Amino acid sequence: MHEFILGSSNPHKADELNELLGGAAKIKPASEKLKVVEDADTFEGNAFKKAKAYHDFFKSPALADDSGLVVKALPNLLGVKSARFAPELPDYRDKNLKLIELMKDFKGEDRSAYFICNLCFYLSESEVYFFEGRVNGTIGHELKGDKGFGYDPIFVQDGLEGKHLAEVSEWKMKNSHRARACREAVKFFQN
Ligand code: IMP
Repeated sequence: MHEFILGSSNPHKADELNELLGGAAKIKPASEKLKVVEDADTFEGNAFKKAKAYHDFFKSPALADDSGLVVKALPNLLGVKSARFAPELPDYRDKNLKLIELMKDFKGEDRSAYFICNLCFYLSESEVYFFEGRVNGTIGHELKGDKGFGYDPIFVQDGLEGKHLAEVSEWKMKNSHRARACREAVKFFQN
C-alpha cells in the first residue's frame, strides 16, 4: 500500500482522508508544518505546490488537497481565495452574512455555486496524480444548520429538497467534494 505524508496544517485532515480512502492509501500527518504560499490561480496548482513542497522537504511521497467554494456571480471573490474572503470578519457567520448581502440582487441560476476539492498525490517528480470532486448547489438567502464548517450554512445542496449543507452532516460525510475526490483516488489505487 502507498504511504503519503500529508501536506496540511490541519491535524484532523489526516484522519478524515484515511477514513475516506478506506485503506487504498495510508496518510500520515507531517511532523512539521511547512510554509507554502498558496498563490496559484487553480485548486490543482495549489494542491500541487503543497504536495511538492512536502515531498521535497520530507523526501517522501506526499498528498495535499486544496478546496473552496466557487460562486458563479462572484468569480473573483471566493474560489481559490475562499479561505481569505472578507479577512476583516474572522467569524464564518459574519462572512456568510456578508456573502448573502453581496448576492442580494442575484436570482435563480445566478445563485449557483459549487464546492470543489482537488487532491494531488505526489509520488516523485515523474509521478504525480490529481483527483477532483465537486458538489453543486446554490447560495441560500439565510444561514441554516449548525453542523459542518465554513460556508456550509449558506450552501443549498442540489437534490436535497432545499437542505443546506450544514443540516445534512451524514450525507456530507459520504458525498462531499472531499469524499468524491477520494472515491476517484480509491478507484485509481485499487487498479
Ligand atoms: P482548504 O483548502 O480545505 O483549507 O479550504 C479552503 C476554504 O474553503 C476553507 O477555509 C473554507 O472556507 C472553504 N471550504 C472548503 N471545504 C469546505 C466545506 O466542506 N464546507 C465549507 N467550507 C469549505
